[in-house]
Amino acid sequence: SPDFQGKHVTVAGLGVSGVPAAKVLSGLGARVTVVADGADERARAQAAPLEELGVTVRLGDGDTLPEGTDLVVTAPGWRPDKPLFTAAREAGVPVWGDVELAWRLRGENAAPWLAVTGTNGKTTTVRMLASILTAAGLRTAAVGNIGVSLLDAVTGEQEYDVLAVELSSYQLHWAPSLRAHSAAVLNLAPDHLDWHGSMEAYAADKGRIYEGNRVACVYNAADKATEDLVRAADVEEGCRAIGFTLGTPAPSQLGVVDGILVDRAFVADRQKNAQELAEVSDVRPPAPHNIANALAAAALARAYGVPPAAVRDGLRAFTPDAHRIAHVADVDQVAYVDDSKATNTHAAEASLAAYGSVVWIAGGLAKGATFDELVAGAAHRLRGVVLIGADRALIREALTRHAPQVPVVDLDRTDTGAMLQAVQEARRLARPGDTVLLAPACASMDMFANYNQRGDAFAEAVRELAAL
Ligand code: ADP
Repeated sequence: SPDFQGKHVTVAGLGVSGVPAAKVLSGLGARVTVVADGADERARAQAAPLEELGVTVRLGDGDTLPEGTDLVVTAPGWRPDKPLFTAAREAGVPVWGDVELAWRLRGENAAPWLAVTGTNGKTTTVRMLASILTAAGLRTAAVGNIGVSLLDAVTGEQEYDVLAVELSSYQLHWAPSLRAHSAAVLNLAPDHLDWHGSMEAYAADKGRIYEGNRVACVYNAADKATEDLVRAADVEEGCRAIGFTLGTPAPSQLGVVDGILVDRAFVADRQKNAQELAEVSDVRPPAPHNIANALAAAALARAYGVPPAAVRDGLRAFTPDAHRIAHVADVDQVAYVDDSKATNTHAAEASLAAYGSVVWIAGGLAKGATFDELVAGAAHRLRGVVLIGADRALIREALTRHAPQVPVVDLDRTDTGAMLQAVQEARRLARPGDTVLLAPACASMDMFANYNQRGDAFAEAVRELAAL
């Protein structure tokens, strides 16, 4: 790993990535300056313990590159067009993200990485993968947005055989030398385009995950853009392109046949042309997009050499995360489902597609999205719609265009009681056999601290209904 002794490293951003990066680097003997845009109380509270370690912290000054910087280590969320990076480029100073730093710091004989990216399904897939690897008796962890941090996983005491790593498009943008054992891109839909600048740039950043793969590049056979990224990648000799599909798999694919997940890519027995892995009913929640996540996880595990029985055991042992198609309760033969994590239209589309007749609770911050495609595709399932949040007019207008017959309740309130009223309105619209689905297709920050709080408010409202 690189020698940081006496090097002047500028860490861009405090928070979950900046603070641990500054600590680790200063422990390795680097002279560390942290620069951050914010200068509020929270920033000062994060700065104080770093300053005690001898780190220099410049608050409210995230745009100037400190004199003599040898390397910039940035929080992944910082936009590439920020003046700090322009200055670094002009000075010939390299910029690494948190993932690049972790990759460079990993020790000799470090655990290989099985990496996952995609617009939606990353966290779920990585956790399923870790569950499968664990079932195979391997020492592993789900690393990334939730669970263990990547830097901890590579620099901590704990030893691992293999890591299941979730990577965002931001992180991949700043990770030029990362080389995974195998990697999967689950799907590609427009998201975060304001940050990346264009769909092409977004796709190119996601495609970085395949660069230098040794064993397998796993793609979604139903999403050609992911396959194109595999074709464009420069991989190690012998590395294979492996597809996953919800239909019957072709050779070199994993797929579904008669309710069974089957593998036609890694078949050990030459007499057989497919290997049975698990039953569809082993996958929870049983939504189609989640079967796809399970197949992607299985493909990475199989690429690593995990036996079929461990795939089945790992999927059975998997417990889904909160707020991801979580069944809250049945009230009067109506199911109430919390998919608060559906924060973009692509996620909400997948979620709506898992149900027959739906009363849909949607709205929040649209982040520049348009809703025509989503609404047109889901119109035939909608019993009714309850709209909440700042950008609900955008969804209402799309409904007027594509689903004029569907009753819409437009809730013009953003106080804490709004979700209870939304659930009450949804109950009024629902008939026995329907599903009331919170899949907002929007971010939550107009009304809530985050999607967790939004989902909790929904679940609480449902429990209140159920108690009546
Ligand atoms: P991420 O980590 O990429 O945000 P999560 O696993 O947390 O993904 O799932 C986020 C949301 O995306 C879920 O609540 C669900 O609505 C949706 N989702 C999950 N997997 C998929 C998929 N493969 N395709 C489309 N949407 C998905």
